[in-house]
Amino acid sequence: MIELREIRKTYRQGGNDIRALDGIDLHIAPGEFVAIMGPSGSGKSTLLNVLGALDRPDSGRYRLADDEISALDDDAASEVRNRRIGFVFQSFHLLPRLTVLENVLLPQRYARVADPEAAGRAVALLERIGLGERTGHLPGQLSGGQLQRAAIARALLNRPALLLADEPTGNLDSKSAADVLALLKELHAGGQTLVLVTHDPAIAAGAQRTIHLRDGRIDEVAA
Ligand code: ADP
Ligand code: ADP
Repeated sequence: MIELREIRKTYRQGGNDIRALDGIDLHIAPGEFVAIMGPSGSGKSTLLNVLGALDRPDSGRYRLADDEISALDDDAASEVRNRRIGFVFQSFHLLPRLTVLENVLLPQRYARVADPEAAGRAVALLERIGLGERTGHLPGQLSGGQLQRAAIARALLNRPALLLADEPTGNLDSKSAADVLALLKELHAGGQTLVLVTHDPAIAAGAQRTIHLRDGRIDEVAA
């Protein structure tokens, strides 16, 4: 499903080279639930950005399902990103003046082809995650846990092959974090491939496999 080979990414910072990713080899099978942990500055965000085709490594190969992402130009990479990858962020990133349902439908705005079934799918997703009664609410009327569940529904709208999350529970109290983890586990049980960055050992414990980064390298892989 995901194959990273010898991925390297260097940033130039005040005359110094910072090796954000220093030779990452990683294979993720379809339907796997993988957590990425590591100290601040170890390369977690850079790795997630490469997996999300948001950032291009300096060298190495990245294949996602049938797409050799590393061989694509920027337009083709962004097309793959919109079609195959869903993103969830620590701070939810919902638009405050759109209703919950309109927010969940946002990925359709960027789709090349209008999907007449998207609205029905959005409502079904919101019902499934317990927000069926909130579709017409504005984000300001929801709790943090509800906002993150709505953001997950939005990330799933286009039925992505890969769901990526950057600290999805970082802004949540422990009860809401447990709700979000339960939802992620349910998605995993349904076959969704999931990769998330987290500092929270309880969230990582819910994943199948934890990858520890240190100085841009994979330091340890724990089941
Ligand atoms: P983490 O997510 O684990 O905190 P990052 O991937 O954000 O780590 O960063 C890895 C290293 O690369 C850090 O030293 C960081 O300062 C550096 N870095 C990340 N992004 C940039 C950038 N856009 N420009 C310069 N340096 C960067
Ligand atoms: P996170 O909480 O995800 O680790 P960071 O604050 O490390 O977030 O990084 C936020 C964004 O800023 C990332 O996209 C990262 O690539 C970029 N970034 C990180 N370090 C630097 C840096 N030293 N200079 C420029 N951009 C950076």
